[in-house]
Amino acid sequence: MSIITKTLLKWYLDNGRILPWRVSPKDAKAGQTPDPYKVWISEIMLQQTTVNTVIPYFKKFIKKWNCIDKLSQANENDILAFWAGLGYYARGRNLLKCARELAEKFDSKIPNDKEVLLGLPGIGEYTASAIRSIAFGESEVVIDSNIERVVCRIFCIKKPIKQSKKNIKKYAHLLFPEYNSGDFAQALMDFANFICKPKKPNCTLCPIAKSCLSFQNDEVDNIPIKPTKKIKPLKKGYVFFAKINPNMFLLERRPSEGILGGLLGFPTSTWDERKFETTYPFEAKWTHINKVVTHQFSHFKLELEIVLGEKVDPQFDNSKYLAIEDVNFDLMALPTLMRKVYIKAIQI
Ligand code: SF4
Repeated sequence: MSIITKTLLKWYLDNGRILPWRVSPKDAKAGQTPDPYKVWISEIMLQQTTVNTVIPYFKKFIKKWNCIDKLSQANENDILAFWAGLGYYARGRNLLKCARELAEKFDSKIPNDKEVLLGLPGIGEYTASAIRSIAFGESEVVIDSNIERVVCRIFCIKKPIKQSKKNIKKYAHLLFPEYNSGDFAQALMDFANFICKPKKPNCTLCPIAKSCLSFQNDEVDNIPIKPTKKIKPLKKGYVFFAKINPNMFLLERRPSEGILGGLLGFPTSTWDERKFETTYPFEAKWTHINKVVTHQFSHFKLELEIVLGEKVDPQFDNSKYLAIEDVNFDLMALPTLMRKVYIKAIQI
């Protein structure tokens, strides 16, 4: 085991975070073992989401769906409504698909075979390795974006992360111990969060500074090398906020495929261009009010202009649109983009 590995495991013992899905090294010594279900749920939630955001969602989730059996019987709309605010809804949908497959084919247990895990919905290389090492104590090399950054810095890799994947893997293999790889993965995650942070790493407090090549070569501020920034394309469209009477408005459930698939929202035009002669979703008195909501998706920016509808034709398609009473409305049931629309629309 390298000196870096030993030092970081020791650091983790003293400084590791106490998290609701985690068994600390001290508790592990006392015989406690991690719950694979909790490890799986947490790893899915933590994809593209910070630990602090995940903690309250995780606690609520486990309270509501405390095992695979219960989760497998959940309704997809309930899961998606729960996921509102966490974003990347495909994760919620895949979680449910996966729970159903686990209930059907794996006796409601998480398997620890890598190939089997990789065949399950929503589980990729990183998640499979994390589950195997953290939940089952199997030997794995776990690499997420934080670990990539730390490895780049320790070994002073002078190419952007995207072009260094093979090298990062090679160096990570040097660091990960054969036993305890789950603890080491969690040690690296905490170390990346508290010490080797994305911006302004705490090198003066760092227990491995002597072994860190970026620190020794005075390159910390330059590593990882930043890739040239791609400008995200801008898409535009209209969003229709229609009142059928002063206390009721209309929502629709979006088609299950595509962005925000299966979620509740206000009807929108297609997202490409914005032109005045738009197609309105149903008959109403429409007013363009010159208010725009902007939102960042991972691959593009979106600008939706709010169009207000009044005197809605009572013959609107009620199999497609849901009439919602203001008093019964839970804003948290909407994805973030649609919450922004609601908040701007009701200020008018
Ligand atoms: S010395 Fe600085 S850059 Fe190197 S591992 Fe420690 S915190 Fe990260």
